[in-house]
Amino acid sequence: MSPAATERATRRVAVASAKGGVGKTTVALNLAVALAARGRQVLLCDLDPQGSLGFSLAKGDAELRGLAELLMGEATPETAVLETQLPGLRLLPRGALDACDACEFEQALFAPGVLDGALAQLERDDETLVLDTPSGLGLVTRAALAVSDFALVPFQTEPLALRSLGQVLRVVEQVQARENPRLKLLGILPTLVDKAGSDALDVLGEVWAGFPGVLESILPRAEAFVKASREGVPVSFLAGPDSPEARRFEILAAESELLMHRLTGREAAHAPGPVRRLL
Ligand code: ADP
Ligand code: MG
Repeated sequence: MSPAATERATRRVAVASAKGGVGKTTVALNLAVALAARGRQVLLCDLDPQGSLGFSLAKGDAELRGLAELLMGEATPETAVLETQLPGLRLLPRGALDACDACEFEQALFAPGVLDGALAQLERDDETLVLDTPSGLGLVTRAALAVSDFALVPFQTEPLALRSLGQVLRVVEQVQARENPRLKLLGILPTLVDKAGSDALDVLGEVWAGFPGVLESILPRAEAFVKASREGVPVSFLAGPDSPEARRFEILAAESELLMHRLTGREAAHAPGPVRRLL
């Protein structure tokens, strides 16, 4: 049985897709912020050898210690993780990594037990881990799925993306069957939805009709996300917590929490039964 199948009080959510530029890093960062704003304890982890989360947050993050140092024994769990300005949100940066060492980093993370062991050292009771993965279905993404409870799959709402959506879902199923029976699809999240374009509605229709597990939440294409990544801040910090873009993530966080409860059967223990009468 995989290490992820042992009992943990934490939840790990891997944000994964076959394609790049579909909004994985944007989703991982802003979902982590929104969950923390709802009072959750969250550890946001950058598993991308390109360190895109670090770029989206700290710009030149080459000096930040993180996962790379933890793997090499050059950082402790305490020094690898950063507290953030937002109560409840901690960050595991990728760490300093020369582009030439990216391959070794990927192979190290893929080695049996390594990623699971690293995360187990860091995570706190009842924490939600959000794992940002590199684009593509390579070693790191598979390793992340192998140690996660949930896969969240951003889907760029355009016709050509439908094919790669099938690919990532097949990989999720394969990892679940072979390595990690605990893994569940949290959902497919339509991103970069161009509300002005007629294509987007057609593609949304196809996704809703053809794939199970499409979330109610969608993320429209909005300039605020581009500006926020450029400034190195979550969208709620730039556009304000009441901006439409930040509200989208509040809704996504609420939907994700509900689904995590449902999919793990925890809801029954906490939620009262449905109310059958209004008066
Ligand atoms: P990935 O991690 O899948 O490669 P990113 O999250 O880095 O994708 O997003 C790629 C680019 O698209 C970034 O410049 C980001 O700011 C932008 N972006 C992401 N989501 C949106 C959105 N909903 N609307 C507009 N731009 C977006
Ligand atoms: Mg990314």
